[in-house]
Amino acid sequence: MSANETTTDTRELQRRDSAHYMHPFTDTKALSAQGARIVVRGEGVHIWDSEGNQIIDGMSGLWCVNMGYGRHELIQAATKQLRELPFYNSFFNTSVVPAIELAGLLAEVTPPGFEHFFFTNSGSEGNDTILRMVRRYWDIEGKPKKKTIIGRKNGYHGSTVAGASLGGMSYMHEQGDLPIPGIAHIEQPYAFTLGRGKAPEDFGREAAGWLEAKILELGAENVAAFIGEPVQGAGGVIIPPPGYWQEIERICRKYDILLISDEVICGFGRLGRWFGCEYFGFKPDLMTFAKGVTSGYQPLGGVAVGERVASALIGRGSDFNHGFTYSGHPVACAVAVANIRLMQREGIVERVAEDTGPYLRKRFLELGDHPLVAEPQTCGMTAGLVLVRSKSHNEYAPFDAEDGVGMVCRRHCFEGGIIMRAVGDRMIIAPPLVMSHAEIDLMCGRIRGALDRTADELR
Ligand code: PLP
Repeated sequence: MSANETTTDTRELQRRDSAHYMHPFTDTKALSAQGARIVVRGEGVHIWDSEGNQIIDGMSGLWCVNMGYGRHELIQAATKQLRELPFYNSFFNTSVVPAIELAGLLAEVTPPGFEHFFFTNSGSEGNDTILRMVRRYWDIEGKPKKKTIIGRKNGYHGSTVAGASLGGMSYMHEQGDLPIPGIAHIEQPYAFTLGRGKAPEDFGREAAGWLEAKILELGAENVAAFIGEPVQGAGGVIIPPPGYWQEIERICRKYDILLISDEVICGFGRLGRWFGCEYFGFKPDLMTFAKGVTSGYQPLGGVAVGERVASALIGRGSDFNHGFTYSGHPVACAVAVANIRLMQREGIVERVAEDTGPYLRKRFLELGDHPLVAEPQTCGMTAGLVLVRSKSHNEYAPFDAEDGVGMVCRRHCFEGGIIMRAVGDRMIIAPPLVMSHAEIDLMCGRIRGALDRTADELR
């Protein structure tokens, strides 16, 4: 068979995959030895692989297919726009109708004070944009020394040079001499390891205090902004303790530091509010968004620019020398408009808050009786648990890193028809927001089955 011929044969696809396709975040040698799982179709909350296996997508693709697969409204919006105008740019005093519409719609669904929106292709580019915006802002304000941005260890803000630097993933920093200068990190508010034996509110105050300590160390006159995900997603669904975000906000205001909420995962309903900052009750100056804005049907990200920064950039700065060919891409924007309208029509955010989120919590917390499971937690439609070797009361014996327990469990999940992600010894999910009660039941049943098989294998 010639390499150019289309095939559906799994072995041949795997051979071609490992011959030519460099995957993101992948151990290529291991992938070649195993062969990739090739996903060919999706419908509702399910995907199918090339072998015909039907699998519940517990991760919404990559935290993005919030409205589920096969939504005709989104497919139609894309095809209609492709026919009408597949591309035009927004540089040099031009604009396109879908980008105008999307910006207006975002002004409706974002918290008060957000009236301006910059479009990118991804969350990473959104955070690159923010880094440049924040530094430009302080220049315009006449405080050019205020340049350092503080992020958190184990935070994830993307894979571009700025995104990976703002993030706190040490395994990313090790490659490519990151972080770039002008970025600092504080500890994450992870109660399971850092807050043991402490009252949650005390730990919330303590964890936010690490920001104040870092600001004092660097000098507030040098600090431009703090960036964080409302719930740290890729770091393992780390749900902050009560009071944490209010205290972070208070500290940012005290030292005149911009507050950036990276809403790439939490935005667009994941926590049962349109944006994660609304769930936790704080008011950021800037928000990054991506993923759920189009339910992943088209690549689109961006920055919601709050009044304070917008009035400086537009009013006094006026020119911002930054942008991408595909900023405001008409097809991506048309899909985002259709996706937000679909979310509004189906009342999906309210449904997560009042119905499916609480139901997921009930079912997911039941997994806490499994001998391998410590501290299952949910927040809206995302959840995480820790795999432990043994437990008694609140004492846990961890697995050794060499056991690779997360990866073992992840394999059993795949084989049992449920996609869960492993982050070290944490197992996490972020299923489509449209998941029904019956599908939540099925998902939690499959997770329990995978936990049983993991326990059998490691016993
Ligand atoms: N920010 C957060 C919180 C993310 O979770 C991600 C991706 O997972 C990004 C930024 C980067 O987005 P992208 O992969 O679209 O560049």
